[in-house]
Amino acid sequence: MAASESHLSSQSASKHIVVCGGGVIGACTAYFLSQKLQTSVTVVEKSAPACAASGKAGGFLALDWCDGGPMSSLARASFDLHKSLAEKYNGEDVYGYRALTTLSVPVLSERGGSSSSMKGSNLLPDWVDGETARPAKQIGTTETTAQVHPRLFTQTLLSASEAKVIKGEVETIIVENGHATGVVLKEMKEAVPADAVVLALGPWSNRLSMISELFNISGLKAHSIILRPREPDRITPHALFLSYQPAPGAKMLDPEVYPRPTGEVYICGMSKDAEVPENPESITGETESIEMLHKIAGTVSSHLKRDTVSEVVAEQACFLPCTDDGLPVIGELPGVKNCYVATGHSCWGILNGPATGASLAELILEGKSTTVDLKPFAPARFVKRRTRLEV
Ligand SMILES: Cc1cc2nc3c(=O)[nH]c(=O)nc-3n(C[C@H](O)[C@H](O)[C@H](O)COP(=O)(O)OP(=O)(O)OC[C@H]3O[C@@H](n4cnc5c(N)ncnc54)[C@H](O)[C@@H]3O)c2cc1C
Repeated sequence: MAASESHLSSQSASKHIVVCGGGVIGACTAYFLSQKLQTSVTVVEKSAPACAASGKAGGFLALDWCDGGPMSSLARASFDLHKSLAEKYNGEDVYGYRALTTLSVPVLSERGGSSSSMKGSNLLPDWVDGETARPAKQIGTTETTAQVHPRLFTQTLLSASEAKVIKGEVETIIVENGHATGVVLKEMKEAVPADAVVLALGPWSNRLSMISELFNISGLKAHSIILRPREPDRITPHALFLSYQPAPGAKMLDPEVYPRPTGEVYICGMSKDAEVPENPESITGETESIEMLHKIAGTVSSHLKRDTVSEVVAEQACFLPCTDDGLPVIGELPGVKNCYVATGHSCWGILNGPATGASLAELILEGKSTTVDLKPFAPARFVKRRTRLEV
């Protein structure tokens, strides 16, 4: 049977779909499934919804930064969906949705020898008052860049989906006659039956052999700090993409700074390959990386120096889920009907959650997606590659 014939028709009796993973991709998929008639959704989450990258990300959204490649339509559709979801669920008050002006700011360390002040650039708001930078450039406008608080966004969509949320660890997927029919949870006697299963396990996807036998999902560890400046009203909605050289000749770093409407300022960067621990709650930041983020924050703004802020709200780390070809993987798993995967969104999962969820809900219930053409993201692309390598 062709993939397009294997869908669960929305015309037929009520369908129960189990979404594995309560990050932004699982939550968005549960939400858009729940908007279709005759579906009930269960989300199985090992720890807590948004406990990993989906709660610790920056939450930056860009309309056109993925243009010119296969991600363009996913990103553009997602940017628009974020806007309409924010209108529907009062995103501005509920999860910090707002438009941003975005600047690229080359920062040099004191030892870097730059003599020009950040104040020399009329693009920079007053709070970006570090003394050691070259002029800034505008790279996003309030029409093309925006933000959400990622944990609050994920939790809002999950609760709007009215999905049943089960705390449990998915161990295996039950496959009968080539069809997924349920999910086995660790330490639970009874399986959860399903008409379709969605695997949205982020950097833990590889732990299911039905995924790792087909393709690889790796985890890239990235760090972040959240500061509460003493005068939050002085911090304007400007996102900063920095380039920072810690010392002459040292590798350039590219941290990002996102002020939030909550009065907090989020700063992230310092990514590195590392082993993804079994338990999402046990992921901690490395001291050296956290210290560097504090140093950069204090260099960019006197309002963000560790000894002047009113609170260091968080010092943390999380893992980006990455594929070998840099594209997300969204679609039915080859060889297992009604078993779908959605992961590998790397540094754009918060942006691309909505169109991923909307398209996947269409694929599952209507047999094809109209929001975005999912062909470039089909898991089958890895099977073709693997077969070619094996020949
Ligand atoms: C520092 C940093 C900053 C970022 N900034 C941005 C940004 O500004 N904009 C943007 O668009 N993206 C950003 N991202 C990327 C974004 O955070 C990720 O792409 C996205 O959160 C991935 O979501 P996910 O749902 O696939 O995975 P996750 O958020 O990792 O969720 C996977 C979930 O699955 C659960 N799980 C795992 N195994 C099991 C199991 N066996 N059974 C049940 N549950 C299980 C986990 O507990 C977890 O909750 C950033 C990422 C990082 C690290």
